[in-house]
Amino acid sequence: MTNQENSTVSPAQKLRTVPVLLTLPFDDPFDYAVPQGMAVPEIGSFVIVPLGNTRRIGVVWEAGASDPVAPERLKPLAEVLDLPLVPEVSRDFVAWVARYTMAPLGSVLRMVVGSPHNLAPPAMQTVYQLAGPPPERMTSAREKVLDVLAEFPNQSATAIMKQAGVSRGVIRGLVEAGTLQALEMPEADPIDDDFNLELMAAQAPTLSDSQAEAAAALVAAGQSGGYSTTLLEGVTGSGKTEVYFEAIADILAQDETAQVLVLVPEIALTNQLLSRFEARFGLHPRAWHSDLRPKERHDHWQAVAKGKARVIVGARSALMLPYANLRLVVIDEEHDPSYKQEEQVIYHARDMAVVRANLGACPLVLVSATPSLETLVNCQRGRYAHVLLPERHGGAVLPEVTAVDMRQQDMPSTRWVSPALYKALAKTLEEGEQSLLFLNRRGYAPAAICRTCGHRLQREGCSAPLVVHRYGNRLQCHHCDYTIPMPRHCPECEAEDSIVMCGPGVERLAEELAGLFPEARIAIMASDNLRSAAESQAFIRRIEEHEIDIVVGTQLVAKGHHFPMLTLVGIVDADLGLSGGDLRAAERTWQQLWQVAGRAGRDERPGRVLLQTYMPEHPVMQALVKGDAEGFYQSEQQEREAQAMPPFGRLAAVILSGRDGSSVDQLARSLAQSIPHQRDIQVLGPAPAPYAVLRGRHRQRFLVKAPLGVNIQQYLRHWLPEAREVKGVRIAIDIDPYSFL
Ligand code: ADP
Repeated sequence: MTNQENSTVSPAQKLRTVPVLLTLPFDDPFDYAVPQGMAVPEIGSFVIVPLGNTRRIGVVWEAGASDPVAPERLKPLAEVLDLPLVPEVSRDFVAWVARYTMAPLGSVLRMVVGSPHNLAPPAMQTVYQLAGPPPERMTSAREKVLDVLAEFPNQSATAIMKQAGVSRGVIRGLVEAGTLQALEMPEADPIDDDFNLELMAAQAPTLSDSQAEAAAALVAAGQSGGYSTTLLEGVTGSGKTEVYFEAIADILAQDETAQVLVLVPEIALTNQLLSRFEARFGLHPRAWHSDLRPKERHDHWQAVAKGKARVIVGARSALMLPYANLRLVVIDEEHDPSYKQEEQVIYHARDMAVVRANLGACPLVLVSATPSLETLVNCQRGRYAHVLLPERHGGAVLPEVTAVDMRQQDMPSTRWVSPALYKALAKTLEEGEQSLLFLNRRGYAPAAICRTCGHRLQREGCSAPLVVHRYGNRLQCHHCDYTIPMPRHCPECEAEDSIVMCGPGVERLAEELAGLFPEARIAIMASDNLRSAAESQAFIRRIEEHEIDIVVGTQLVAKGHHFPMLTLVGIVDADLGLSGGDLRAAERTWQQLWQVAGRAGRDERPGRVLLQTYMPEHPVMQALVKGDAEGFYQSEQQEREAQAMPPFGRLAAVILSGRDGSSVDQLARSLAQSIPHQRDIQVLGPAPAPYAVLRGRHRQRFLVKAPLGVNIQQYLRHWLPEAREVKGVRIAIDIDPYSFL
């Protein structure tokens, strides 16, 4: 071998070892030996390797930082899977997310895989084919089966039964007669999504001038062939979805291998968008969310990795899939808090989408009626383009918003519908229109206390209140699955019949309404009674078909729906989201209430919104009443800027948690003593988390505050121990925290 040839062979290949990153919480890949007779797999190959006594999934990775092990001591690779390589852009993305979030590299890789089942080869299935002469006794059912198989051989019993409209017994009879033969075959690979471009063009709506202008901007970004981020902003109903559909249609038409990802915040919205998409594009996109059945998940994952899926509509986890050729990402409702994942790898899908688009040189479109301050400031800084849709499609006008000053209302403390709201509800009912009452509290009452001793009911060793559910019969924790029947005696002082419920949840509000309007059809829309996407859809249909007069809902009602007969929105406790020390409390309240308000009067009928508040002078309430989005953002921005809070400064939270409170306190104290001094960085804490004990774990928090441009991760690496668990105490790092509980 000449020297020159030598230089193209990596040392790993010479030794026939490969680094393999496992889908487990490790920071580095481990080396494995490539057995004799096996070709050295390429970087990005999915492999199975031994670990201890088990076999694990991994991906051949770039060499890590760990010390080399003598090749003879390495375990051999067990298998190389017959799957496309994890593309370089996906590997770079995994590395980027791990570095930024400080999560173990292997935990981020795990999000690419989803579940090990996704990698499995197609399952075997029993299929039937024609094998012998026609049966002696021929029936019309038998004839239909033979016709189906003559045209499409090798089909499963279920498929034959469906097409021929026969029972399983007919197939069995034909097998016994020797006409059909059963054989085992792998299920077919998912078929390629094939869009009918002519149909797509024919289905395109005629856009208004401003919509056409917005669509042209997105299409231009798509055609530039590079990275860009664009905010598409417009009030609810202005046609944002129609506009980004244009950008999707253009990409699909330009490049027949292009893949498009649309992220949505809720599963119910996924299904809604799937139907709408199908109506416009003539093809169902692939869904990706936690509610998929294992087989669907397997098929969709494979279709994404093999480039067969062209359009994916999914929840935040869809961002991590190993796309073969991702050419456009759209994030609908970009301001939605559910894009932040709070467990395991703590990341914000919107922020990471910017990185993914950048690495993959593709455009990203952020869509919202109430953008996040982060995104608006990025537009001001010139990092993102900003496209505005100024009015509602078809000229529907924005609703009139009125504040009801609750300090002036003469009401008993167990009533929540003010006289003004009562009057408006009565009038709406009279006119045969629909109302929506918004209260972002599940259950009957948010807390229960003992009238005798003042004890608030909570699970032993937990600081979250127990919420009263289903008309008062049970108590439930909203942070774990703990549920108990409502006790008759106070667990603290044992007084009998002394427990009282505090405040309203949607169930209690519905009860009050039923008393006020016995004739009205009232229904609750909350996650407790709508457990699946199908249930949500059925409920939405009931509203659309006017089977409900008054909808009482939590934040589930805020998003994306279009109810033509809904003309009154009552916000029962507008101040609810403003309490607590959350940095984004005002912003979130504004976004949520503005979206709920937008449910009123989307069609020809003008809408009305009543806002029950104890703080009508608060900037959020003022902005809502005046419809002054800009004014709100300006005051919010000034406040954050003055305090150097995000997006004008950086935050990271460090959360210690463990079963033993004193070990948690001890580690918190010792970390407090070793806080590295850096002039521009401030570390607050340790302080017990607002929920000091949750799911049996004691919790202490630090908050790190730094100016923009400071590498906060580097600081944390310098300060915190490398291990993520020290003496039974877990250390979680939350970069750019959204939750302060
Ligand atoms: P947004 O996403 O901003 O809430 P949508 O795209 O959902 O708005 O549009 C609101 C409603 O108006 C939808 O029913 C949509 O189909 C309809 N619509 C919007 N623009 C047009 C258009 N140019 N032609 C026909 N219908 C339109």
